Amino acid sequence: MSEIKKIVDKIRTGQTMAVAEVMAAVERAKNIADTNAILEITEEYAIKRAEQVDKDIADGKIGRLAGVPFVAKDNFLTFGSKTTAASKILQNFQAPLQATVIEKLEAEGAICIGKANLDSFAHGGSTENSAFGVTHNAVDSDRVAGGSSGGSAVVVARGVVPFALGTDTGGSIRQPASFNGVVGLKSSYGLISRFGVVAMASSTDVVGPIARTVEDAEIVTEIMAGKDGKDMTVWADGYRKADGKKPKCIGVIKEFMGDGVYADVKAAVKQQVENLTKEGYIVREVSLPMVKYAISIYYIVVPAELSSNLARYDGIRYGQRSQDAKTLAEIYGLSRDEGFVDENKRRIMIGAFVLSSGFFDAYYLQAEKARTLLIADFDKAFADVDFLIGPVAPTPAFKIGEKSHDPIQMYLSDIMTVPASLAGLPAISVPVATTKNKLPIGLQIIAPYKKDSEMLAFAKTIKEEKK
Ligand code: GLN
Repeated sequence: MSEIKKIVDKIRTGQTMAVAEVMAAVERAKNIADTNAILEITEEYAIKRAEQVDKDIADGKIGRLAGVPFVAKDNFLTFGSKTTAASKILQNFQAPLQATVIEKLEAEGAICIGKANLDSFAHGGSTENSAFGVTHNAVDSDRVAGGSSGGSAVVVARGVVPFALGTDTGGSIRQPASFNGVVGLKSSYGLISRFGVVAMASSTDVVGPIARTVEDAEIVTEIMAGKDGKDMTVWADGYRKADGKKPKCIGVIKEFMGDGVYADVKAAVKQQVENLTKEGYIVREVSLPMVKYAISIYYIVVPAELSSNLARYDGIRYGQRSQDAKTLAEIYGLSRDEGFVDENKRRIMIGAFVLSSGFFDAYYLQAEKARTLLIADFDKAFADVDFLIGPVAPTPAFKIGEKSHDPIQMYLSDIMTVPASLAGLPAISVPVATTKNKLPIGLQIIAPYKKDSEMLAFAKTIKEEKK
């Protein structure tokens, strides 16, 4: 049952008020300080906003999210708090404007109560790359929350708020959702405006919700979708309701079920295949041969784009200036050196390298060509099946420190999420099972381009196995 609707219903019938809902959420947020999921709780600002929402309600203006508290990943520009992208270079940055999606949610009466931790500039899959400390998994504090939207997933899993916002460039919504047992939606590229969101890789960056139910993820997506005139990649048609046609055929991605995949993760997917077969779906194995190159493609294209997007943080145009800098070169050099974490620097260097004139053809151009072939694999698959399914990640949440010393190991664990990102496709992680030691496992569903609503309708029918 939708938790958003529960709150809005209680607001509508006068059983609660926005201020009370916000104060309760702030209390819950303070109680999970041990997870380090939240970088800043915006108590004062949120209560002021809630008072305004209560006034609007008294005037008969009840938005679709009236009185619903939420948390935004700290790469969304918001009033009432800093926007740091979990980096030192933006640690004192007060945004002069709000992201379009924040404005849209506020217009419906939602109230942002805080900013969630992330890997610095969203570079990572464990939230260990935050400049402000690691976020701990909602279920097992020795394990990672996943990332980069780790904080957003934990606040939702711990029941602080019914939904949180994340961004997904190569898995950053889906993987932490899977690691913490909540729903995470990566929307189609172009469904939701990214205006006012700190850019990572502009050809794959998308915004999406993390929630406890698919229904809530849909409510939030529907509100956020559509053109704002400020992100030229957003399509005009916005969020369409599902066509209502019942899907018949589901493909299991063969390359996602190989030897390297944790047994419990494979078992969880197989259980869902069994369930779907019983429900009358035709379920068949589908091969996406180009998936074996997806990590290589992603870790060329994405650093190339982010090295360009991060060029603006130079201590002059944006970002904190180094106190020790005496010359112009030092302002650039020291500010960037002090302001970025190692992973940011690694990616900036890879990006600059693959774009450099001597290597552009061999790396960047080649990667974009291979990406086109990967997209063709998906097109071919969707000629035969309605949706593709598979795991979200090869393992459940890993131990803190287990992979942080080895970037390649970390990158390899993105193998199941980056393909949909490179192809711009909608994909969702829904919780379906847990391991013996209670670690959540999500099922990933990938849909054809722009079929977000059809995918959500299908996702609603997926049942979590009894614990
Ligand atoms: N883990 C992936 C990476 O490190 C995805 C990050 C993201 O989606 N922001 O790039």
